[in-house]
Amino acid sequence: MKVLKFGGTSVGSVESINGLLEILKQQYAQGEKPIVVLSAMSGVTNLLTQMAEDAEKGISFNAALKELESKHFAVVKQLIQIKNQNPVFTQLKIFLNELEDLLQGVLNLRELSLQSKDLVVSYGERCSAFLISKIAEQYFPESLFVEASLLIKTDSNFGNARVDLQKSELLIRQFIQEHNHHFLFVTGFIASNDSGRVTTLGRGGSDYTAAIFGAALQAEAIEIWTDVDGMLTADPRMVKKAFPLPILSYTEAMELSYFGAKVIYPPTMIPAFMKKVPIIIKNTFNPSFPGTVIQYDSGKTKFPIKGISSINAISVINLSGSGMIGKAGFSGRLFSLLARKQINVVLITQSSSEHSITFAVHPADALRAKLLIETEFELELLAKKLEAPVIEEELSVLAIVGENMKQTPGMSGKLFHALGRNGINVRAIAQGSSEYNISVIISHEDLSKALNAVHDAFFTALKKTLHVFSLGTGNIGSTLFRQLLEQQDFLRDHNDIQIKIIGISNSRQMLFNGEGITLDSWQEELANKGEPANLEQFISRMQKLNLPNCVFVDNTASTEPTKHYLKIFESNISVVTCNKIANSSSYEQYKRLRDTARKHGVDFYYETNVGAGLPIVRTLKDLMTSGDRIIRIEAILSGTISYIFNNFNGDTSFYDVVKSAQALGYTEPDPRDDLRGTDFMRKMLILARDGGHTIEAEEVKLGAILPEACLSAPSVEEFYQELKNADSYFNNLKEKAKLENKAIRYIGKMEDGQVSIALELVGEEHPFYNLSGSDNIISFTTERYKDRPLVVKGPGAGSEVTAGGVFADLVNVGA
Ligand code: ADP
Ligand code: ASP
Ligand code: MG
Repeated sequence: MKVLKFGGTSVGSVESINGLLEILKQQYAQGEKPIVVLSAMSGVTNLLTQMAEDAEKGISFNAALKELESKHFAVVKQLIQIKNQNPVFTQLKIFLNELEDLLQGVLNLRELSLQSKDLVVSYGERCSAFLISKIAEQYFPESLFVEASLLIKTDSNFGNARVDLQKSELLIRQFIQEHNHHFLFVTGFIASNDSGRVTTLGRGGSDYTAAIFGAALQAEAIEIWTDVDGMLTADPRMVKKAFPLPILSYTEAMELSYFGAKVIYPPTMIPAFMKKVPIIIKNTFNPSFPGTVIQYDSGKTKFPIKGISSINAISVINLSGSGMIGKAGFSGRLFSLLARKQINVVLITQSSSEHSITFAVHPADALRAKLLIETEFELELLAKKLEAPVIEEELSVLAIVGENMKQTPGMSGKLFHALGRNGINVRAIAQGSSEYNISVIISHEDLSKALNAVHDAFFTALKKTLHVFSLGTGNIGSTLFRQLLEQQDFLRDHNDIQIKIIGISNSRQMLFNGEGITLDSWQEELANKGEPANLEQFISRMQKLNLPNCVFVDNTASTEPTKHYLKIFESNISVVTCNKIANSSSYEQYKRLRDTARKHGVDFYYETNVGAGLPIVRTLKDLMTSGDRIIRIEAILSGTISYIFNNFNGDTSFYDVVKSAQALGYTEPDPRDDLRGTDFMRKMLILARDGGHTIEAEEVKLGAILPEACLSAPSVEEFYQELKNADSYFNNLKEKAKLENKAIRYIGKMEDGQVSIALELVGEEHPFYNLSGSDNIISFTTERYKDRPLVVKGPGAGSEVTAGGVFADLVNVGA
């Protein structure tokens, strides 16, 4: 025999009740007559509680009573044949009249005891179980409505009564024996004390009713039918990537549900565990899905933990003082006091110095707990051996759970790394000695971010999601979006990475979408749905959204965004940029950026600052971190200048080459901006700093390409005139090179902490002799690469390769 329990949503609508009937018909057809336990229709227990509390305050409950009536009557009208409806209406009406009398009593007396409240809410389960039994009777004539309050016996702790399992099991077995020809539809949640007063088993308690029946009858299984595919790795309302777990041990299910996984009520596991009856959580709306089996052994899975659960609202009480040190029995006194007064302690931590104890309780209990402690420890407080207890509010608990954690070192490291990286401050930590559970207390506003970050960290076989805020929609920005769109599927399938662009801004407009902006239509969306751009707001929105694995991408060349990098790092957000300005301003700024990023555990990637997508910054970093010593760096890092000298041969004049380079769009509008070498200088500066040198821009020896008269010409036109005048200067240079069989190159050098850039003639033996087009080249001479330097060469400009470099940096964030 099986026990099937259907939760509120499974009896909440005509559609779900039809689903329930299908499930029963199938079992019936196989010769089974399970015991069916039912919750109140969804929302009804809350409504009844509200009605009782309103009545106590003198507020009318009539409208709510009507709502309750029509909710049940509507189901009768749709699911019971007209000729059979009357007796059902009559019985429901009897229940509702009793309820009305009760509430009227509460209203008259303005008094609501826990006992009366239990009686009021018991009507939810009575009405639904009766109603379902009558609907079922049309298919299974032997259906019978059962008031479980007569069979489950508890103490008198109304609202959350403790079950006398022995007594209850006896009554249940007796009853079932007498009714074994019936198909039973049983109320969940409700019970009674020794004097026959109705009690309830705590919110969510219908699950428990099913387990009590299952254990009493040594059922083959207890099936909990609900609205999700089983116990999931996390609360699906908070973590979109949560997925169903096939197997859990009783302990794991208990820990997960104790720490907030609402899908099953924690005490449910106890009777099932004692009688080794498996619990299966199934979805009424997806009955063919296998669901979750809760049994004796925890199944082996590829993940070190089973799930992550959380309690939304928790308060923490801190107790400290010298009176606690070495005083045996202090915590005994404290916690037995709380237990006597029915205050549930969710979690406890004590510092090893014994100077303080921190414990968590439900917010509704916090003030009472504080007052109780103040009374109990009055003497200690007066003698200043104890500080007054302090309540901290607006906190949440996050717990990771799994039996396999025991055998796997590094679990807490992984947890704290994920939290730390995302800037989540941990207020208190507790690990059960069973090692099935590690719990942390964090601020409530961080909970959603923490759950998602921790879920990503532990379930690594799943996609990791990067949340990106991208500035700049010029050539590089828009190329990046196109590349991301093209690579989306590949990244998901091969790198387990999902990149969501949450915000886009250019200088005119900005756009946000928490679900990710669709990359095949970002232009239209930005144009149609964008708001006026505002950098400050763009950044503060990004900070407020508080998303895990967050990255700020700066694809601009302006100074303004770089001023915000520090505070972006301080909010634990990584930065990826092709913008050179931040790294090439003062050394102090350069250093502060790195220190801040490191302190907050986030990344600062800027591969494209030097040589676009060529692996130059990364190569230098790898050489340094692997202990190699840089002897010399030589480089050509200006594509424009490269192009000009590569084409300055034969009969063409220098003037002609510069003109044609400009016509091809290879130069800035004023070609001197390239030919002055400042951009090249910035790249050398960044390399020197990354190479470990404290150096400022003024210290770089920047040799000129152009004669003084060209540089000082007041306009571009006059510059070209001066360039013509300088023909013989450049021709002499070309002649000299030709005579010596050499090539003219503008080369940056770093040696002994000195950086210089100058025109040079290099011979055939030099690696820079054969350079074509606008290629960049860099050679690293190091302790390891002393005889033959390590050379990186290739196209060092263009939006395609630059965006590609930004893309690669992005994928490496948090790797
Ligand atoms: P029922 O009315 O069937 O008893 P509940 O509302 O009590 O259903 O529990 C089911 C709900 O629990 C789900 O809809 C889901 O939103 C929530 N929930 C929270 N944590 C989890 C989890 N880890 N796995 C599955 N569901 C969860
Ligand atoms: N109806 C009760 C509640 O809402 C019991 C249950 O649904 O399990 O808490
Ligand atoms: Mg429930």
